[in-house]
Amino acid sequence: MKLQEEIKNNNRPFIIAGPCSAESEEQILSVCQEIANNHSAQMLRAGIWKPRTRPGSFEGIGERALEWIVNAGKETNLPTTIEVANASHVNLALKAGVSSLWIGARTTVNPFAVQEIADALRGVDIPILIKNPVNPDLSLWMGAFERFEKIGLTDLTAIHRGFSVYKHRKYRNVPSWEIPIALKENRPETPILCDPSHITGNRELLFEVSQKAMDLNFDGLMIETHPDPDNAWSDAAQQITPARLKEILNTIVLRSHTVSQDIATIINEVREKVNNVDDRLFELLMERMEFSNTVGQLKRENNITILQQEHWTKVIKTRLDLAEDYQLSEKFIRSFMDAIHQESIRHQTAVMNPKKSDE
Ligand code: PEP
Ligand code: MN
Repeated sequence: MKLQEEIKNNNRPFIIAGPCSAESEEQILSVCQEIANNHSAQMLRAGIWKPRTRPGSFEGIGERALEWIVNAGKETNLPTTIEVANASHVNLALKAGVSSLWIGARTTVNPFAVQEIADALRGVDIPILIKNPVNPDLSLWMGAFERFEKIGLTDLTAIHRGFSVYKHRKYRNVPSWEIPIALKENRPETPILCDPSHITGNRELLFEVSQKAMDLNFDGLMIETHPDPDNAWSDAAQQITPARLKEILNTIVLRSHTVSQDIATIINEVREKVNNVDDRLFELLMERMEFSNTVGQLKRENNITILQQEHWTKVIKTRLDLAEDYQLSEKFIRSFMDAIHQESIRHQTAVMNPKKSDE
């Protein structure tokens, strides 16, 4: 059966667990056995070649560890997955008999590397898990799927692991949930897992992100699991023990994504009201843009620049001060007003610079 089907048939969540990095034969085997004994995962993971941000940190055991993970898979009767980043990794992994391959975020970002891996897999039937690129670019993620499909590989699954930011605050990689949701819209048949370990970078936050992924109807989770997380050779802060993994999985609330007829009717009535409010919002926005056009016309006639910074600073401050009264977050008001402002500038620019044919 295709991995895609296994994930979809698993009735959520399909779990991939195992250490960030393979460190020793004993470490791999012990953690995989405990995961298997707890029935916590349907697939085992381990990093053999580690893409580290800066040289000098542990860069993975390499080829030697392939045998360890393949052996752990045999011992536990679970399929395995490792990260590959070039054609030589692919050839070694295929030779060793790994069950599936994952493409890391730093590889998905590079079309040359993705193409090289795809070319090395021509004619091979193996499931591929594709992590999102480090930067928030839906097309690059989609492009990676298309490169594998073009060479005939169709058993493809997505992994959302968040997006890199310069100064991260709460999360190591910001989730930007709208991007995996857009991927689902574009590729409804493709299963999608969430990797809360690399999103959070912090084991204390793993549960909340895992729960959120389940509430957004993701098909599963990839969670870094280590026998002794604090002493892990890579990503120590985000790894958890198999016991904690079991606890998290037992605590997650799985909500149904199908709804009974009665509830559906009630929800649809409220949705109808929401649609009506959205219609009114659109009418109001149109009205607002008509006023912007009038202002643009006046600026044009009087040769005034479109942007009046002082005025805009005042407007945005007034709106931000009002946010709380309306029970809206300042963050939302900021981006909402910025979007309105951009659209208003677009309208005014059109009024200021009419096309010759309009004159
Ligand atoms: C990993 O899964 O260990 C890893 C390196 O992930 P990412 O490519 O998401 O950074
Ligand atoms: Mn890791």
